[in-house]
Amino acid sequence: MMLKIVNPATEEEITSVEALDEPRTHELVERSARAFDRWSRVPAPERARLLRRFADAVDADGEHLAQLESRNAGHPIVEARGTAARARDVIEYFAGAPERLIGRQIPVDGGVDITFHEPLGVVAVITPWNFPLQLAVWGMAPALAAGNTVILKPSELTPLTTIRLARLAVEAGLPPDVVQVVTGTGSVAGQALLDHPRVAKVVFTGSTDVGRIVMRSAANSLKRVTLELGGKSANIVFKDADLPAAAAAAPMGVFYNAGQDCCARSRLLVQREVLDEFVDLLRPAVRGVNVGDPADEATEVGPLISAGHRDRVASFLTPEEDILIRGKAPEGPGFWFAPTVLLSKDGTSRSSVQEIFGPVVTLIPFDDEEDAIRIANDTVYGLAGSIWTRDVARALRTARAVQAGNLSVNNNTAVRHQTPFGGFKQSGIGRELGPDALREFTETKNVFISLT
Ligand code: NAD
Repeated sequence: MMLKIVNPATEEEITSVEALDEPRTHELVERSARAFDRWSRVPAPERARLLRRFADAVDADGEHLAQLESRNAGHPIVEARGTAARARDVIEYFAGAPERLIGRQIPVDGGVDITFHEPLGVVAVITPWNFPLQLAVWGMAPALAAGNTVILKPSELTPLTTIRLARLAVEAGLPPDVVQVVTGTGSVAGQALLDHPRVAKVVFTGSTDVGRIVMRSAANSLKRVTLELGGKSANIVFKDADLPAAAAAAPMGVFYNAGQDCCARSRLLVQREVLDEFVDLLRPAVRGVNVGDPADEATEVGPLISAGHRDRVASFLTPEEDILIRGKAPEGPGFWFAPTVLLSKDGTSRSSVQEIFGPVVTLIPFDDEEDAIRIANDTVYGLAGSIWTRDVARALRTARAVQAGNLSVNNNTAVRHQTPFGGFKQSGIGRELGPDALREFTETKNVFISLT
């Protein structure tokens, strides 16, 4: 079976790729397991050198990767260039890890005790369609650095940059089968990875519902799992905040990548006393968001990924929802959706509760700090969030009280490759990036050497 790969901005077919069945997927796992026996024994300085060369290859291919990501995933080209550069940065960062994977010497009776961080084996990295390149690299770079082999399973909608990434790894000199790609559907190729006992770990990024399937399937052979799942993050604006700055930043805090972002601040909590003033500032900011052709350098927001997904996003604009502001989007071919702000008086509307994964934000008024924290935490998710205030103590109190993994103060960004990223509650398990990511791809081994 072939999968049709479509440009979401034009609805035109770009190419098609093969959907692998279970036996073919299992063949790749066997190859990965054999490659692991060699790769795990490559000395750390050599593994580091190969990863640096891989980062250089991604750097040299940056414009090509960006164009591919833009056409396949609908990312504005300026954003896609940033993504390609960050992919290089992540590989470079973890290229420093093999030589720093340092164990301990622990004082004991009668001998010497040392610990090692051993690789796990075959790691499957299953990614969604919203940030295909970035999320493939987040999983693969630390896995490889720790001495594991990797099988990437991109979304059936957006496999092109993942396929390219694997080719660049080979061109950079990584041994055969250390990085492989399984293209195909989640229910067949993805499930085949979950079902194979030689897969030691699954890094899954995607919906919370499929995350549950991953965890259940992984239990059969006790695979390790990292799960990066959905979100319903709150952007909290206190009355003492720099309101023009908060209002100017709020649209891209949720409409970035057309809202198809697990960290999207899709609930905008504004203190009631400044609600009218804030909405007056927000209206021109939302209407000014430039939605359009991803190839245009002035474009800030591209299309949604598919017709089906656009229908799903549109299904949230029911008569019960109060539309406060609507921005502009192109008409004609392409899966366009205009940025939309809804108003919920008490934060219980469907749009306030469910992950929409589109350019829709629900504005919810709150009374005081306690009320803001209560509303922010009134969700099954816990991925990200923002706090806008000039009061440092309030910022820290609120940041500690919000049950989410990635909070920012007077800023809406959640991700830096030097810092840990992941979710509380049903937003996930485990952490990616940052100094501790290697722990997620190793087992600690303790060795005692008798001196008697
Ligand atoms: P999805 O869960 O439908 O699919 C994700 C991946 O899982 C795809 O590659 C798919 O083919 C595969 N898959 C589906 N069923 C499977 C199965 N039974 N076994 C194995 N693999 C299977 O998610 P999506 O629609 O592609 O992406 C959107 C979701 O991803 C949103 O909920 C979003 O919040 C989440 N997301 C989370 C993060 C994060 O870091 N927390 C980042 C990006 C996206």
